[in-house]
Amino acid sequence: MTRILLLGGTGDALQIARALRASDLYSLAGIGKMPEGLACTVRVGGFGGAQGLQAYLADERIGLLIDATHPFAARISSNASIACRAARVPYWALRRAPWQPQAGDDWRFVDDWPQIVEALAPYRRPLFTLGREPLAHLDEIPAHQYWVVRCLEAHAGNTRASVIGARGPFTVDGERALFAMLGVDVVVSKNSGGSATAAKLEVARERGLPVVMTRRPELPAADREFDSASALLRALTEWSADS
Ligand code: NAP
Repeated sequence: MTRILLLGGTGDALQIARALRASDLYSLAGIGKMPEGLACTVRVGGFGGAQGLQAYLADERIGLLIDATHPFAARISSNASIACRAARVPYWALRRAPWQPQAGDDWRFVDDWPQIVEALAPYRRPLFTLGREPLAHLDEIPAHQYWVVRCLEAHAGNTRASVIGARGPFTVDGERALFAMLGVDVVVSKNSGGSATAAKLEVARERGLPVVMTRRPELPAADREFDSASALLRALTEWSADS
């Protein structure tokens, strides 16, 4: 039976992991929650770059790699593509569609942290919803700003910043209440796509707030790409029947 290695760290990946068999492997970087109740084996931690992953594919006799990592996890996707090519293992990827601005949206597209700082300069109460990156800059907060950072793990913050530990999915009602309570005047986001964290964009639109939106990094081409977990699972069923 051909073994599958699934690279995860997202809700979509967990959905795919639930369909894997006991002989398959689900790999996590080790920064999120450990999933429970899976038939497949869960392994945690890096492989040691593309070469380490190539060796792992051979050692574990992997016959298919599925990359369902977050669209901003560009390094592991690049490593997976290189390792699969070298090991001649098919490389499938789940690439969920990026969010697109709608009528009434005021999005400012940026590529990196300096561009985020520049785009935020006119505002006073930014809400950061792009992970831990702002925590490295809490000593650089401009005098006219107070930051709220929402990321997976809570953190002490400082006198000029609060850090909220929270995991999606987030609801529109919850985001409305949060924005009103904090007096948010600009939202900072990654263009993650998907529904779990999209409510903030709806509430920003309702309130006429700008969104500083980080563009996606470039990701390697895959042998097969899917835009949803359900499409990938359908293909996996056919593939399993054939292999
Ligand atoms: P990254 O920069 O692409 O990867 C950094 C290193 O972490 C990789 O080189 C690899 O180490 C290890 N790694 C990443 N994903 C792994 C996996 N599924 N299994 C085993 N090792 C993994 O990734 P990141 O942006 O730090 O994200 C880390 C994890 O969090 C990913 O699994 C991603 O799906 C998830 N995540 C990321 C974001 C985000 O915004 N970046 C958001 C939600 C979830 P080695 O080189 O040693 O193999």
